[in-house]
Amino acid sequence: MSNVAAYALPAADGSFEKITIERREPGPNDVAIDIKYAGICHSDIHTARDEWGGAQYPCVPGHEIAGVVAAVGSAVTRFAVGDRVGVGCLVGSCGRCAPCLAGDEQYCANGATWTYNSRVAPEVQANGYTLGGYSTGIVVDESFVLAIPEGIGLDVAAPLLCAGITLYSPLRHWNAGPGKKVAIIGMGGLGHIGVKIAAALGAEVTVLSQSLRKRDDGLRLGATHYRATSDRQTFRELRGRFDLIINTVSADLPIDDYLKLLALDGTLVLLGLPEKPLQVTGRNLVNYRRSLAGSLIGGLAQTQEMLNFCAAHGIGAEIELIAADEIDEAYDRVVASDVQYRFVIDAATI
Ligand code: NAP
Ligand code: ZN
Repeated sequence: MSNVAAYALPAADGSFEKITIERREPGPNDVAIDIKYAGICHSDIHTARDEWGGAQYPCVPGHEIAGVVAAVGSAVTRFAVGDRVGVGCLVGSCGRCAPCLAGDEQYCANGATWTYNSRVAPEVQANGYTLGGYSTGIVVDESFVLAIPEGIGLDVAAPLLCAGITLYSPLRHWNAGPGKKVAIIGMGGLGHIGVKIAAALGAEVTVLSQSLRKRDDGLRLGATHYRATSDRQTFRELRGRFDLIINTVSADLPIDDYLKLLALDGTLVLLGLPEKPLQVTGRNLVNYRRSLAGSLIGGLAQTQEMLNFCAAHGIGAEIELIAADEIDEAYDRVVASDVQYRFVIDAATI
């Protein structure tokens, strides 16, 4: 075991504090990573503040990890010391079930192991549950380590490991591309990367945001249209327009209003988890053969494909780099939708 520094929340209503955690010695298939940057995903906040229940403390969040390989186990074949690498939301899965064999490890039938707050044996992580990327080092099975191509800075690559794949996967699954009209609801951490990726795939992109405050940025990142959902006119004018709508918002939205914006065979995909059950009027699905769907991050192979795609298209996240002692403030600002557009922790400050 080796000790590394980390930032942890001691309780749901506590403040982040610096602690020391143990990481296992790398086994034959493990890669030890010196973490350089960790993005702050809204899911970190939901988990650490126990909004989803089941949080274990001290809680070290962080599943948008970028760093450099520090050591490799004897059987590791894909990585060498000094390689630029990333780790996303997943650090383990059974590898035998149908979803795992199909490359959809995030839907592992036997329960995937998440990068933080997942129960594991003490030999995997001494406390009995995983601790994430708000730390200076992590040890991960090489199957769950991604190569970060040259040409993307590690700081702007970090958010791709969750936000990037979470948008890339449904955009590819529902065939966003030339001739397709795609809407992204919410231009936050997930949404802004979705705008960039959907535009790079060749789709016509519309942002549906609460206000026009971030309009100039949206258009600069690749959107063709930017509309305010606070304006009822938006819903009247865009009726029946979109082939695909991706909802990155976890707040309870009037889903019926958004379903009516779908064209024939259009799909509305949920990424956020609304607190209350959705209220959906059957007619809005039956009309125009519309679908309501959901999507959870993406598998390992597709995450690598996404990183390669982003490198080829010059796509990284728009970030605000912060020191580790600014995490509490950053959390409050994310909750207030006041971030442009992803906070990234500089691990040198941990
Ligand atoms: P974020 O940076 O906070 O962005 C969310 C955006 O939603 C905000 O920027 C805001 O955009 C909009 N919004 C916020 N409150 C709203 C409200 N009350 N009504 C309407 N719109 C509102 O969060 P994120 O990191 O992108 O994550 C978004 C959600 O996705 C979180 O719930 C997270 O847990 C979830 N998530 C899901 C997956 C998955 O695999 N499915 C992966 C990662 C995260 P505007 O200001 O433009 O309106
Ligand atoms: Zn995330």
